[in-house]
Amino acid sequence: MIRTLLATLAFAVTASAAQPPNIVFIFCDDLTTQAISCYGDKRKLLETPNMDRIAKEGMRFDRCLVTNSICGPSRAVIQTGKYSHANGFYNNSNSKFDSSQPTFPKVMQKSGYQMAVIGKWHLMTDPVGYDHWNVLPGQGAYYNPPMTENGKEVKYEGYTTDIIGDLTLKWMDQRDKTKPFMMMCQHKAPHREWEPPLRLLGFDNDRVYEEPETLFDSYSGRSKAVSDHDMGIDRTMTDRDVKLVIPGNLNEEQKKTWSAYYDPRNAKYREAVPAGRDLVKWRYQRYMHDYLACVKAVDENVGRVLEYLDKNDLAKNTVVMLSSDQGFFLGEHGWFDKRWIFEESLRTPLLVRWPGVIKPGTSTSRIVSLIDFASTFLDIAKCENLPDVHGRSIVPLMKDETPADWRKSLYYHYYEFPVPHRVRPHYGVITDRYKLIHYYKPDVDDWELLDREKDPLEVKDFSNDPAYADKVKELKAEILRLQAEVKETMPPPRFTHGNKPFDNEPQPPEQPKGKGAGKKKAGAKQE
Ligand code: CA
Repeated sequence: MIRTLLATLAFAVTASAAQPPNIVFIFCDDLTTQAISCYGDKRKLLETPNMDRIAKEGMRFDRCLVTNSICGPSRAVIQTGKYSHANGFYNNSNSKFDSSQPTFPKVMQKSGYQMAVIGKWHLMTDPVGYDHWNVLPGQGAYYNPPMTENGKEVKYEGYTTDIIGDLTLKWMDQRDKTKPFMMMCQHKAPHREWEPPLRLLGFDNDRVYEEPETLFDSYSGRSKAVSDHDMGIDRTMTDRDVKLVIPGNLNEEQKKTWSAYYDPRNAKYREAVPAGRDLVKWRYQRYMHDYLACVKAVDENVGRVLEYLDKNDLAKNTVVMLSSDQGFFLGEHGWFDKRWIFEESLRTPLLVRWPGVIKPGTSTSRIVSLIDFASTFLDIAKCENLPDVHGRSIVPLMKDETPADWRKSLYYHYYEFPVPHRVRPHYGVITDRYKLIHYYKPDVDDWELLDREKDPLEVKDFSNDPAYADKVKELKAEILRLQAEVKETMPPPRFTHGNKPFDNEPQPPEQPKGKGAGKKKAGAKQE
């Protein structure tokens, strides 16, 4: 009897040791490192104990960079391990994900993993390669969201971040426990318009947040591409963004709670509406309250997932990864939103816990990227990599065995223009210290060189400084090398404005014509 029991136990131990690890991938939308306490932003905007726990028990990646800083394209990069020009998803305006191409979930599913994705998807075609999916349509709503569960419409009451948390735990509980699994828990938060959970309104006790040093960036000496933007706290933020207007989809009870917090504060604002710099300062404070409350709700739901793994004896054999589709500007350069190759939107959080593989409390400043995630997931799952991927597995970095030929530079290319934020298309190269950027169309042809060591705020262009002439030459050559490596068929720097557009160039959406053309509607469909 005892012998049988021991034999059974021994078998169970062997079986679990042989089982490839589960992966819980917590993916956020527009979550930036400045809002995660373990990244140590000097403003100390928010405490995120649960995200910090992943770093404390695992590894913090200090330079996880994106290749095209915008929602849908980043998601397509993750599915395929390829740059936008190769996976065909360039922008949020008119791209549709071609789900017939090779993707990592298809491979993992075939190898026996149960694959699930819950929350924001935003690839405009249905998920393929998943046993279970329950996703928000398009951008999704913050309150009482409709969702699509395996092709069927469903409706929920409550706050979307919490609902995604609930559905994540529910699926993990009901899954086939004989198989390894990958759960992609994909939050909508803290995307614009940063609508907080009602339970957290006023969580900060009307704290006055420190402003970033570049809140009033003059953009002097920079390309017109930088100054002529449409993503300023001063010129672009709408009444809906700053909660002077109530969101449309709250129920009566929710409206009461919402109004109890915002109405008295909005009345005070209307008594003496600030102007100029004071308006920017007021909006910045409101923005921080709302954005950070959204992040706090994500953090709480990260905590629920970690607790579930603990309680169900899953923590040991589950890799937990937390990341975001890009970073975000929290007032730096006077901006909200993303898109730019500048550090706040280029850099995205990446925290990974893998007990027994990653040494707790470690960090790395090696350049890794969302382009590496597909190869990484497949490596963890002991599956063959996808053909022709542009990224590579970061598992060796997790093991502190960085390959000698690990990348020293990364190629970047952003395309979406002119709507919604008038950020001109640009490509460039990023190294530990420098960035060389080319704004190439439609009305600019400007190069900029950033030196993060001399100018960590990224407010100066060194490209015309004779002392940097060799560096510019070297980095131009590096851009060409990287473009050849990933087979991007545009030919910069030979490409200049006025030349024929390159073959696979995405076309901007048609602009409205006639009266009121170009006018922005509050809460209009955007990024
Ligand atoms: Ca995003």
